[in-house]
Amino acid sequence: MKTEANIPYKFYLEESELPTAWYNVRADMKNKPAPLLNPGTLKPMTAKELDGVFCDELVQQELDDTTAYIPIPDEIREYYRMYRPSPLCRAYRLEEALGTPAKIYYKFEGNNTSGSHKLNSAIAQAYYAKKQGLKGVTTETGAGQWGTALSMACSYFGLDCKVYMVKVSYEQKPFRREVMRTYGASVTPSPSMTTNVGRKILAEHPDTTGSLGCAISEAVEVATSTPGYRYVLGSVLNQVLLHQSVIGLETKTALDKLGVKPDIIIGCAGGGSNLGGLISPFMGEKLRGEADYRFIAVEPASCPSFTRGKFVYDFCDTGMVCPLAKMYTLGSGFIPSPNHAGGLRYHGMSSILSQLYHDGLMEATSVEQTSVFEAAEQFARIEGILPAPESSHAIRVAIDEALKRKETGEAKTIVFGLTGTGYFDMVAYEKFHDGKMTDCIPTDADLQKGFDGIPHFPGNE
Ligand SMILES: *Cc1c(COP(=O)(O)O)cnc(C)c1O
Repeated sequence: MKTEANIPYKFYLEESELPTAWYNVRADMKNKPAPLLNPGTLKPMTAKELDGVFCDELVQQELDDTTAYIPIPDEIREYYRMYRPSPLCRAYRLEEALGTPAKIYYKFEGNNTSGSHKLNSAIAQAYYAKKQGLKGVTTETGAGQWGTALSMACSYFGLDCKVYMVKVSYEQKPFRREVMRTYGASVTPSPSMTTNVGRKILAEHPDTTGSLGCAISEAVEVATSTPGYRYVLGSVLNQVLLHQSVIGLETKTALDKLGVKPDIIIGCAGGGSNLGGLISPFMGEKLRGEADYRFIAVEPASCPSFTRGKFVYDFCDTGMVCPLAKMYTLGSGFIPSPNHAGGLRYHGMSSILSQLYHDGLMEATSVEQTSVFEAAEQFARIEGILPAPESSHAIRVAIDEALKRKETGEAKTIVFGLTGTGYFDMVAYEKFHDGKMTDCIPTDADLQKGFDGIPHFPGNE
């Protein structure tokens, strides 16, 4: 294996080099992400209105479009030290196997028990809830990574944790469910009979396998109707992208120390948190005119918010109890085909990333799930890490970009986010191995059904 003398396979920063402040990319955006709207009045949500749903300090972070650096409290940095800094890996073996002149790096976030980057925000949100003297938090989880991360964070700070888990995942992914319970969380399949919104959805669609949007509605209802509880969300929100900037800050510090400047930065996009976190410091440079990079968001062809969605105000949840967010969306009623196994199934996208994409500062592409699992397997065999299906969307495009350089002979530097491990996704891998995985691309008519649920009001077309 050919390696460069100054660049190891895995590059670790020292614990003392952990970022001391998160970077808020909104501060450098000329066009700020549109504010959340109250669905009743269509006016921007005030801090007071958001206080009933989120913890006070998280509301401040959510609304702060101007402070570039927000200090990371010591208690959170102490927890970060238990599993960070995460390694920046040089995919020497993958480069060799592909025969590409491209240099490929990945930032690996799967080295903690929850198995993904989600812990970076879970620990922050749990900390602020504890600091405010709350009893507990509620949330939703799809495949279970966010619920797992949050249950770890809550057990660390001694908070109660109530998780509404998308029913199909609750049934098909018992292992994550049991990890959550191991950390002390209570886990309820959604939709459930424990909430008004759950009962209503079940009355209308008794056979539904659930969706993230529906689980969000239930978790919000419980948080706002139970004293001492607030709701927390694992992606999409501005505050979550802020916390996840720790990924990009570490990546940037490591690359700077190695004297490497990336050309292309790639991340998978569900709600946008890992991608937003990874690219933030680099995007900041681009926005300030200090450097230029290509950023590529990768989403599943079966849930194509960026590439086929509309940039409008929409509900964040199926039950339509949450504020409206301006984002690329497929409509809050959109549910990807039950065939879809690769995660990243949320109907909307971070408002920050939506604005950046809308302004042409970032690209997006969609990939089909069989090609994602091909890339996952190839990566596992060559680089040794068993990737999460979500992460494998980024792997797919990183490999494709590297193969393109083979034709052009350009030694471009590619960095991608390897957000997590896939140990608990073996049912999906099994489907792939047994040849039972098909690609499920929604037709325009399928998408139209989702778009029909987008609220109509002047200016929202
Ligand atoms: C949740 C998750 C994602 C997608 O969420 P984003 O908010 O878009 O980052 C990606 N990879 C893994 C491993 C996840 O658990």
